[in-house]
Amino acid sequence: MKNSKETFGTQVFNDAAMQARLPQGVYKSLKQTIARGAPLAHDIADIVANAMKEWAVEQGATHFTHWFQPMTGITAEKHEAFLTPKGGGRVILSFSGAALVRGEPDASSLPSGGLRATFEARGYTVWDTTSYAFIKEGTLYIPTAFCGYNGEALDMKTPLLRSMEALNTQALRILRLFGNHAVNRVRPTVGAEQEYFLIDKDMYRQRPDLVYCGRTLFGGKPPKGQELGDHYFGKLLPRVSAFMTELDAELWKLGVYAKTKHNEVAPAQHELAPVFTSVNVASDHNQLTMELLQRVADRHNLACLLHEKPFAGLNGSGKHVNWSLTTDTGTNLFEPGETPHENAQFLLFLVAAIQAVDEYADILRAASANPGNDHRLNGFEAPSTIISMFLGTELTAILEALEAKEEYQSPETPKVEIGVTTLPHFPRDTTDRNRTSPFAFTGNKFEFRMPGASTSVARPSIVLNTAMADVLSRFADTLESAEDFKHALDKLVRRTFRAHKRIVYNGNNYATEWHEEAHARGLSHLPRTVDALPALCSPASVALFARQQVFTETELTARCAIHLENYAKTLRIEASTLIEIVKTQIIPACFHYQNDIAALVEHKIEHLAAYDSALERHTITQMSTLSAEMLDNLRALEAALHKGSAHDGNAPAEAALHAANHIAPAMEQLRKSVDALETITAKKHWPLPTYGMMLYSVG
Ligand code: ADP
Ligand code: MG
Repeated sequence: MKNSKETFGTQVFNDAAMQARLPQGVYKSLKQTIARGAPLAHDIADIVANAMKEWAVEQGATHFTHWFQPMTGITAEKHEAFLTPKGGGRVILSFSGAALVRGEPDASSLPSGGLRATFEARGYTVWDTTSYAFIKEGTLYIPTAFCGYNGEALDMKTPLLRSMEALNTQALRILRLFGNHAVNRVRPTVGAEQEYFLIDKDMYRQRPDLVYCGRTLFGGKPPKGQELGDHYFGKLLPRVSAFMTELDAELWKLGVYAKTKHNEVAPAQHELAPVFTSVNVASDHNQLTMELLQRVADRHNLACLLHEKPFAGLNGSGKHVNWSLTTDTGTNLFEPGETPHENAQFLLFLVAAIQAVDEYADILRAASANPGNDHRLNGFEAPSTIISMFLGTELTAILEALEAKEEYQSPETPKVEIGVTTLPHFPRDTTDRNRTSPFAFTGNKFEFRMPGASTSVARPSIVLNTAMADVLSRFADTLESAEDFKHALDKLVRRTFRAHKRIVYNGNNYATEWHEEAHARGLSHLPRTVDALPALCSPASVALFARQQVFTETELTARCAIHLENYAKTLRIEASTLIEIVKTQIIPACFHYQNDIAALVEHKIEHLAAYDSALERHTITQMSTLSAEMLDNLRALEAALHKGSAHDGNAPAEAALHAANHIAPAMEQLRKSVDALETITAKKHWPLPTYGMMLYSVG
């Protein structure tokens, strides 16, 4: 058997494959294109396409596809065979440069948030040359960005690439001010930790709520949940281990740097983390990871749940986005340097991040909003919906000392002065003790813990990159026009920290005291998706994204509409599913059980002289009381759902608000009745697998 080093990236048309198969001149030109993140020039496209096809066909590929990430949150693909008729019933295999560079999928059935009404239905896909093509199941995949006829972004990739460009431009301006001319490119890097649940597929199939909605809409608490803390980092069950081994092998072949795997806090919950890479590649790889998690699980008769909260009362699943900035010379800009000069630069990037998160906290919050995450956030297991930043006591003390122009007493840092002071390195264990913070500095990167498990890495990354670019551009403006650079830098760092330190909080984010304090500090609290999403189209957001050329106002408005529509639709699907299950499975189960008891009473009356039916009466009364409640709650949910249909299609904001204010609470009420009935109904009559059965189904 081949080892992982030998199989890694074998299905990827990576640098080694390019070098081996392209004429040297073409290879060099393609490398330059990739380094600049530019589209492929037409004169070399045909040669590259042909080499790619030859390579792919040798590996058994028959088709190619432009692979893109529309606003559905998942990926889209349309496969085309290489096969081309050649006359006389013969065929050749061909793949032109034009077909490699650009595709024209019909965009009309993908969400556009109204952009299609004003523009054309056609969409274009353009190869993102910085993300390698790869082969999966007999098809050559070309990672692409997807936009409309006039270049409007219709996907996650286009704005992500634009935000990377903006950040690169502004970060380079700053580096030049520090006299750094060797760096040609600054890339945001991301390592996305992915949490998920695994349950037996047979159980999954019996739960229509999991099949339609990805989460359980009801289910009583099992006798044993995560109380004992015995699952986190626990021994992997053989079936889980076999699944993970196969998953790693598949991911490695596709060039995904899957690195760590372990059990998470809740029973049946696990995590996978890759080694970080450029954010656009990290985003592509995370999409592949989510897809393969589900596909490989299926082969093991398992279902992989990527929903943020598949089971109430247990920890939900997040996607921690570890984010940093790296130069093409290999420097991590959030790593404290070796020299005072490097540290001045580090401190500047650090306070820029502090300002970016403080100034654009609401947009960052909005980027983490989806219907699933509403069940996860604020749950004492995941960050609260107040954005704050953890820096750790040491770094905070350094910044405070700087701000106060005081001396910071530490053996390594006798005096904190910009451009003079050497800073200590912050080992991970002293910086990462606080797991409650939504945005934590972890020694040389930030870990954004708010995004949910199912979300695209691109969503929060676009905001982070753009916000950072914007702050850096203002910093560069100030510093470029300064007469005395060192003096201006000193003032800028101090002033920025003073103005934005309210966002820094090193305490327990789950504590109620923090909510009060955050309020006093003027930090906003947007608990639900419907509260958070409007921030994405606020005047401040429109101005930010326009300034950095990441979104036009029209694109941003369309995006808001898509998210709101998605929210309302998701809740409507959930409500309809719950109603269907209650009517077709729960109510009949109640009848069956009550029938059983009634038959028992009848039997006793007929056959027993000394008759006591206390237990039967008690149970029947309990059943009828709860069933009556369930009926009321069912009617209320049906009414809420019916009322909401008035907003269908034309008013996404109203539809979303109605869903949040009326449908969600009505579902909660109905769930309570069902959960109560579950606890007293005879097991043989309960039609669906319970929480206990699902969570402990992978033996
Ligand atoms: P934990 O679960 O304790 O948060 P992990 O080791 O599972 O930590 O995940 C840390 C993630 O951060 C990994 O994906 C890692 O590659 C990533 N990471 C490390 N350094 C950087 C960096 N400079 N930029 C982006 N991500 C990084
Ligand atoms: Mg983590």
